[in-house]
Amino acid sequence: MIELVAESRFFWLHVKQSETGCWEWIGALDKDGYGQLHAVRDGKQTTMRAHRLSFLLDRGFLPDLDIDHLCGNRRCVRPDHLEAVEAKGNENAEAIARIEGAFGRLGSHQTWRE
Ligand SMILES: [Zn+2]
Repeated sequence: MIELVAESRFFWLHVKQSETGCWEWIGALDKDGYGQLHAVRDGKQTTMRAHRLSFLLDRGFLPDLDIDHLCGNRRCVRPDHLEAVEAKGNENAEAIARIEGAFGRLGSHQTWRE
């Protein structure tokens, strides 16, 4: 389990509200433009996407689903701009996954999902 208390304090230090209503991650971004941070999980350092951690902090769980941005802003971590979606059945997400899979995106998903 992620050390939630320590992570949430660190997390919100790296978020700025934008004029569009998004809460943008101002920390590191991964190669796809998503916010990225290091988290401690089961005593081990791991890398995860900021919007996935935001979802987890807000809802208290992280489903085995893609977390989609309703606002289309990959840096956004505002919980009510995020939605868990089935990767299957979302043709658009599937197409993106196919393209980005070639660049190793699926690999980074697996490290978090285990
Ligand atoms: Zn947003």
